[in-house]
Amino acid sequence: TRTPLIAGNWKMNLDHLQAVAFIQKLHWTLRDAKHENGSVEVAVFPPFTDLRTVQTLLDADKIPFALGAQDLSVHDSGAYTGEVSGVFLAKLRCRYVIIGHSERREYHAESDDVVAAKVRAALRHELVPVICVGETAEDLEAHGASAVPVAQLKTALDGLPAGTEIVVAYEPVWAIGSGQAATPEQAQDVCAKLRAVVADALGADAAAATRILYGGSVKAANIAGFMREPDVDGALVGGASLLVDEFAAIVRYQK
Ligand code: 13P
Repeated sequence: TRTPLIAGNWKMNLDHLQAVAFIQKLHWTLRDAKHENGSVEVAVFPPFTDLRTVQTLLDADKIPFALGAQDLSVHDSGAYTGEVSGVFLAKLRCRYVIIGHSERREYHAESDDVVAAKVRAALRHELVPVICVGETAEDLEAHGASAVPVAQLKTALDGLPAGTEIVVAYEPVWAIGSGQAATPEQAQDVCAKLRAVVADALGADAAAATRILYGGSVKAANIAGFMREPDVDGALVGGASLLVDEFAAIVRYQK
């Protein structure tokens, strides 16, 4: 039994003042509403510059959201101007860090090898990597849906010890920000194949425990369909994670 994870990737949105207002509103909304999914884990992934503020607010008001960062450096410290170390993220009580988002792969030329190095950097500091994989529209046309995400995940997990805790996010690039989500059946098919990759790399127990999320145009109106699938354990939400009521409705999905 895996605890579902609903994660909000804010991308480059909400400054630290807006973040405070947003987190407070989201907390009130979820607390006041009848909470159908008491066991759903909620995680937010603000920009680096918000992390300290959000961490302080979560601690002070005992707000039960997990905190994550959107990226980290492959290095722990040193002359790497502009980079942010996993050491710092761990000290801010980040639990998660997104690695290999398609926007990092595309706009910052992050290769599968860089992604693998970042996964190791996260694990050195007891951060749980949220490893993003997914095919572009061209990949889908040329190789079908699963070939590219399966290959990306194999590289990311290669050589990790059995039982390593990770989260996987299957985000078809063509579905991100497009309003055109994958169907639940498409997501299930790829997520099942990704779980098999986890089993090969990290063992059967880890595969049974690993949350595999779907991401790409998730909203309140389509979340339930994904959550009914046996190998989809949550969602990585972009645009809809910036709207309090919409994101709260996603968290409170009813199967
Ligand atoms: P959207 O939910 O805006 O499609 O973004 C998905 C995403 O990239 C989450 O990481």
